[in-house]
Amino acid sequence: MATDTPTPLFIRMHEKDNVAIVVNDGGLPAGTQFQNGLRLIEAVPQGHKLALIDIAKDQAITRYNVTIGYAQTDIAAGSWIQENMVQLPPARELHNLPIANRKAPELPALEGYTFQGFRNPDGSVGTRNILAITTTVQCVAGVVDYAVKRIKEELLPKYPNVDDVVGLEHSYGCGVAIDAPDAMIPIRTVRNISLNPNFGGQTMVVSLGCEKLQPTRLFPKSVIPIQVQAQTQTEPDVVCLQDAAHIGFQSMITSIMQTAEKHLATLNQRQRETCPASELVVGVQCGGSDAFSGVTANPAVGFATDLLVRAGATVMFSEVTEVRDGIDQLTSRAATPEIAEAMIREMDWYDQYLKRGGVDRSANTTPGNKKGGLSNIVEKAMGSIVKSGSAAITGVLSPGEKLTQKGLIYAATPASDFICGTLQTAAGMNLHIFTTGRGTPYGLAAVPVIKVATRNDLARRWHDLMDINAGRIASGEATIEELGWELFHFMLEVASGKKTWAEYWKLHNALVLFNPAPIT
Ligand code: CA
Repeated sequence: MATDTPTPLFIRMHEKDNVAIVVNDGGLPAGTQFQNGLRLIEAVPQGHKLALIDIAKDQAITRYNVTIGYAQTDIAAGSWIQENMVQLPPARELHNLPIANRKAPELPALEGYTFQGFRNPDGSVGTRNILAITTTVQCVAGVVDYAVKRIKEELLPKYPNVDDVVGLEHSYGCGVAIDAPDAMIPIRTVRNISLNPNFGGQTMVVSLGCEKLQPTRLFPKSVIPIQVQAQTQTEPDVVCLQDAAHIGFQSMITSIMQTAEKHLATLNQRQRETCPASELVVGVQCGGSDAFSGVTANPAVGFATDLLVRAGATVMFSEVTEVRDGIDQLTSRAATPEIAEAMIREMDWYDQYLKRGGVDRSANTTPGNKKGGLSNIVEKAMGSIVKSGSAAITGVLSPGEKLTQKGLIYAATPASDFICGTLQTAAGMNLHIFTTGRGTPYGLAAVPVIKVATRNDLARRWHDLMDINAGRIASGEATIEELGWELFHFMLEVASGKKTWAEYWKLHNALVLFNPAPIT
């Protein structure tokens, strides 16, 4: 990859920026001279910022044409700008924001793109055909684990159209203040995950019996999925471990396996059929970010987001603490004042949630982010928001809610990778796009995850974990547009059944619920 005498390169995001980031693998040594004559007065690691001009103490440090902080000291041109030299600016207040005042660019409809998906009776489309076993409480997790292993070994081979069996295990269900107002978040999350389009409406539940989250509370009559009703089932199949009929552990396993087999037989009848790209429900996320995330991978995802919206699909972007500092960009992009107000409501709720815990949005950045060149949450946020492309924002979801519309949706979730992925799964995501600069082997059991590397070096080292290499944008081998199209086509292939690397290796993270309510 590296040539003998690599040309020293930096990337400046906007002509008004007074800093840029070093592109070259391994960084650049002191004394390096760039083509414009600028000379580094010290070594700068890859992805880290250099001062393009002299910056006086207290002067704004500008990247993405946004003030990402203020200089703590005088900084000479050619210096490495380290995190401790940048003072975090105060958070934007949530009043007097620009509301729905920016008309989104005209995005012509994109027609004719399709994928092979599993059409469900309720109209949603799955990209995988998976038997999910929902649980009401963590107490049953060990039993469900055991049963899933047996089902995979003994039953799954008889139903070749079914891709997998997944136990939806989680930490909720008992020992929790289930009547607290915020308890609705974890409860509706578990409910809505079990209704994900990849599970074909074949809801089955394993319950302990004495837990707070009773099956009837998880699935009140009013929310029994219509696809289940259509099969004349009036409630989800429930296996209750404390049922008096169970004598011994093996009888519980037999009950679960018999119930599972019924659903496997139904799922096995599902066939892939040609579906328009508008049936994709894509959740975009980043994790293990570096300074390249906002230069390569996230802009390419943003371009693909616009393609999806043009094709009539649904795209969710999330991660409250990573968009909070760009709230004015988002409220001005809202399609209506009501949508802008809903975004402000979600941000305000999260501000209060963080305040209760004695922190603010600056708690977001990680040691790895900083090592990768991101000084603070403002810089990280500017790079994160570009995943949302340029379309108008047409909807807002609260954590754990299920989607009811198409278009570009702000789904409010924590930025935590596994919690964001869990909540986007609950919203009804059938495809997940995940960008990473530092590198993470992240995956989900329920939904295919396409991982996009921000740098050539990561793509080279993690060649069998990263699906797409956006580092080619920094090295000039591909444009953002080319990579956006490549990602779009790859999404259609994966939605049609092509395996991602995470699926190939069967890597997946646990479902992690967002529970802001008290534990008892
Ligand atoms: Ca994340």
